[in-house]
Amino acid sequence: MQLPSPTQQLNHEFISQLWVKRDDLIDTFVSGNKWRKLKYSLEKARLENKNHLITFGGAFSNHLLATAAASAKNNFTCTAFVRGEKVENEMLMLCKLFGMSLIFVDREIYKHKKILFDTHFGKDENSFFINEGGASEEGVLGCCEIISELTDVYDHIFVAAGTGTTAAGLLKEINLKKLTTKLHVIPVLKGGDFITEEIEKYEPNTSQLTLHTDYHFGGYAKTTPKLIEFMKHFISSTGLMIDPIYTAKMFFAIDDLAKQNYFKKDEKILALHTGGIFGVLGMKDKF
Ligand SMILES: *Cc1c(COP(=O)(O)O)cnc(C)c1O
Repeated sequence: MQLPSPTQQLNHEFISQLWVKRDDLIDTFVSGNKWRKLKYSLEKARLENKNHLITFGGAFSNHLLATAAASAKNNFTCTAFVRGEKVENEMLMLCKLFGMSLIFVDREIYKHKKILFDTHFGKDENSFFINEGGASEEGVLGCCEIISELTDVYDHIFVAAGTGTTAAGLLKEINLKKLTTKLHVIPVLKGGDFITEEIEKYEPNTSQLTLHTDYHFGGYAKTTPKLIEFMKHFISSTGLMIDPIYTAKMFFAIDDLAKQNYFKKDEKILALHTGGIFGVLGMKDKF
């Protein structure tokens, strides 16, 4: 694990002070915020003498791959409930290579995660529940460390959000350290206003939080030709690999806001690269 993750300045066409915290470099497979979110859950499992991690995700979930790889590295076994009909793809192939067992479940049944856990593993004392996407108090705690690692002060920090767990950790530590930094969250789902409530479960003070809900491009795992064009241009002009589900939407938002003169001259902006570049494998036909 490469920690603390490096912070690098991005060679950007029109934003002078754009920096990227490269959580994508923490590990090839236990990528980005998924490691931050797993760290303390794995510690808790270890303390409770549980060596079988049980988790949940879609067929292209970065969280599944991260859990599979982290589990193999740390001498756990793991099983995942995968949402939907049985499929094979590159992501699940990698999960299986890391030794993860997969149980495909109907979308309706998948929603009831505690019940699934209890019926399959309730009697197994070694089993440890990890929620979809690693959403938990432990996950938030791990994400606080992203801010603790920073050696510079930024005017704005940007992060993409699915469950809002990562954003909650960032905000919690920003408040704790009394930083003046503004946290900008880009929900990748449609109707992203619910993210504020998710964040408030962990951090009630949201005075420094701004949600930008118009950069979902149709919803979770949805994209548009505009976003694909942006990605191609961004990757080839900066040399930084990004994914279409999360980080492309975040960098698009930064670009778009800069074009609208949202930022003051020479303000320092930090984008959190949350990793997840294998997400592109779920959208091969778009490129
Ligand atoms: C899972 C993921 C996110 C979303 O994180 P949350 O804590 O669920 O909001 C963001 N970026 C990438 C690359 C991810 O894989």
